[in-house]
Amino acid sequence: MSQLFAKKVAAITGAGSGIGRALAIGLAQEGATVHIADRNAEGLAETAELIGAGDARAFMTELDVSSEIQVGSWIEQIGSTSGRLDAAFNNAGITGPALPIENYPLEDFQRVIAVNLQSVFLGMKYQIPLIKRSGGGAIVNTASVAALTGPGGMSAYAASKHGVHGLTRVAAMENAVHGIRVNAIAPGWTETPMVVANSQQNPGFAALARNAIPAKRGGRPEEIAAAAIWLASNAASYVTGHMLTVDGGMTIGGFEL
Ligand code: NAD
Repeated sequence: MSQLFAKKVAAITGAGSGIGRALAIGLAQEGATVHIADRNAEGLAETAELIGAGDARAFMTELDVSSEIQVGSWIEQIGSTSGRLDAAFNNAGITGPALPIENYPLEDFQRVIAVNLQSVFLGMKYQIPLIKRSGGGAIVNTASVAALTGPGGMSAYAASKHGVHGLTRVAAMENAVHGIRVNAIAPGWTETPMVVANSQQNPGFAALARNAIPAKRGGRPEEIAAAAIWLASNAASYVTGHMLTVDGGMTIGGFEL
């Protein structure tokens, strides 16, 4: 069976849980050597174990994606360990509190922007030179349906994800000539372990949310990862500067028959 990422090297942030973990597993199954990063060392170790114990194709780094020094040295380490980088997935993110703007603490706003948006800027700042030296490749940033909509109470999150969309387009514009494609995914309601736990605590809200999705269910992390892996693969060789919604129809708008 031919593998989409045979002999290729991929970097994934937020790989200790949810969508990032599904990305790491999916990319490894497609033949990639994966460099996985997260602030949660335990989560990273679980992901590495799921990829396959003793597999020399998974390298873990505990870091904070909002730190320039930590992100820079991680990418440098990828260069020295694997000698190249073909695909990067800037995926780590947090939600922040749900509060109206007038009650939203500045430090929470700044933290969400740092973890969700500054991280994507820093990731690309250090990934692009290494991908260029590798002869080209692809970057996929994780945005959200909140890059397209204005969910009440989520000012910092929505601003950060709209920002991820903008950064993605600028990076795509700057790097098309260098053979680097840059795209984003916009997941909808995705049943990561955290979302599943919240839904069990608040089944009424979960049922309401699912009902608002034309597909009538949340997405699985693997379904989101599959779209991102496709965007990073040669199968999407003419796709750049695009944000792909993967949301079961959540943002179609309109109404049902
Ligand atoms: P998750 O909480 O399961 O995973 C996020 C991972 O990021 C965690 O392992 C966490 O430790 C890590 N992380 C958080 N802050 C970090 C930091 N400062 N440095 C390093 N690692 C950090 O959540 P998920 O649902 O898999 O989210 C992944 C991405 O998908 C996020 O960007 C999120 O905004 C986006 N997203 C999720 C949904 C959803 O419904 N789950 C919907 C739209 C977008």
